[in-house]
Amino acid sequence: MITTLHKKISYHVRRIGIDVISRFLGNNWLLRDRPGKCILLYHGIDYVGQTDINGRFISAQLFEKQLDFLQTHYNLVSLSDLLSNKTDQNRMNIAIVFDDGYRNNLQLALPILEKKQIHGTFFVTAINDTQQPMLWADYLDLASNLNTGNIVVAGVTYNKKNGTYQNPDGVSLKNMCKTHNWAFKKQVYSAFPIIKDFINEEKWEIYWKNLSDEEIIKLDKSDYASVELHGYYHENLGVCTHEEAIKLISKSKTYLENLLEREIKNIAYPDGSYTRELVQYCSEIGLKNQYAVDYLFPEDVNDSRIHSRLTLNPFTNLSHQAWAILNNKY
Ligand SMILES: [Zn+2]
Repeated sequence: MITTLHKKISYHVRRIGIDVISRFLGNNWLLRDRPGKCILLYHGIDYVGQTDINGRFISAQLFEKQLDFLQTHYNLVSLSDLLSNKTDQNRMNIAIVFDDGYRNNLQLALPILEKKQIHGTFFVTAINDTQQPMLWADYLDLASNLNTGNIVVAGVTYNKKNGTYQNPDGVSLKNMCKTHNWAFKKQVYSAFPIIKDFINEEKWEIYWKNLSDEEIIKLDKSDYASVELHGYYHENLGVCTHEEAIKLISKSKTYLENLLEREIKNIAYPDGSYTRELVQYCSEIGLKNQYAVDYLFPEDVNDSRIHSRLTLNPFTNLSHQAWAILNNKY
């Protein structure tokens, strides 16, 4: 408890400090360009930067502002150039990537990337190959936001507290989903009584609509975009049995390769969840570049097959975000 509080306080003190110092010194000291590499991970882009539904969206306006700043002060490169060391060794080299395959990536992010001639890599699921209308986390976020009453999942009642659903032990439904396999997650789709209310309302579409097959092909055809793999239905592969996980990876790879008519060599593990056995399996089937969020195992640091990524923080300001990119932490 004290450690958590201490961490929170130091985070805010650091954030304010960085903001004040960068206001006076600009990019001369804390935010000066320096040698390094960063894979910066975005998710959704909307019109207004709504953060009460989830913490994965920023507005198109802010996205453009961030790219302006990063392009002015650092070296933006494609993910493949970053990995093959086609970088400037004296500068901070940043690759822009997106997870989850939202339609808004094509509608709102791509035109900005094309205008600025910045390359982005988009990791998509095989949700179109499943019976699910949307990714489980988006369903849970939207349904939790709009629903008020208690719900029951796997025989356990969840109450809404501070916008999230929690079981009697205080564990959030989202964390339960992250630590349980697909059989558990699947039940969430039918636990809320209101899916028809929001799935038919256009205003919510931006927060859950995934790219169709045709849109994935269109995105991949842009000179400023590459599409790569993000699992089958965004399962937490590290909590599946190994047999289940390899079946899902293999199915998703086949789906995307058939769709794009080319070999897929990059996978971003959904929710950053993987095992060391999966790192080995993926490299054996040709997924030679793998992406985590944070490394989960000490040996990952020296394993050139897997790379960590810094998730963009929609709740912070530009100077702190730039500091986080330069220092690989918030
Ligand atoms: Zn994801």
